Amino acid sequence: MNILKLFYRNLTQGPSTVAFPFGPAWTPPKLRGRIRFDLPACTGCRACEQVCAPGAIRFDKTPEGLRFMMWHNSCVFCGLCNFYCPTDAIVQSDDWHLAHP
Ligand code: SF4
Ligand code: SF4
Repeated sequence: MNILKLFYRNLTQGPSTVAFPFGPAWTPPKLRGRIRFDLPACTGCRACEQVCAPGAIRFDKTPEGLRFMMWHNSCVFCGLCNFYCPTDAIVQSDDWHLAHP
């Protein structure tokens, strides 16, 4: 595109970017985002752990019972855990805010 046309378009239409993180950011429909886990709904069948190819889910046996652990830095957001969970205890949300300390 001609640079003058581009300049004119940007001048008249405004920016197409968003003021992240200082404003609301658009989320595409059906975005595969952060995994959410609902402990009371979990039966401990461990199907999610079995189907997770990168090993982002792990259950450890503790004296209190099974402990759920999940690593979003290993997750590839395939959604298989969500698909195979019989009780919807694990669901894939459209939340893309993954940064944490
Ligand atoms: S598949 Fe669902 S019910 Fe089974 S262990 Fe995973 S979260 Fe719990
Ligand atoms: S979305 Fe895929 S990679 Fe991420 S935890 Fe679930 S099964 Fe594992």
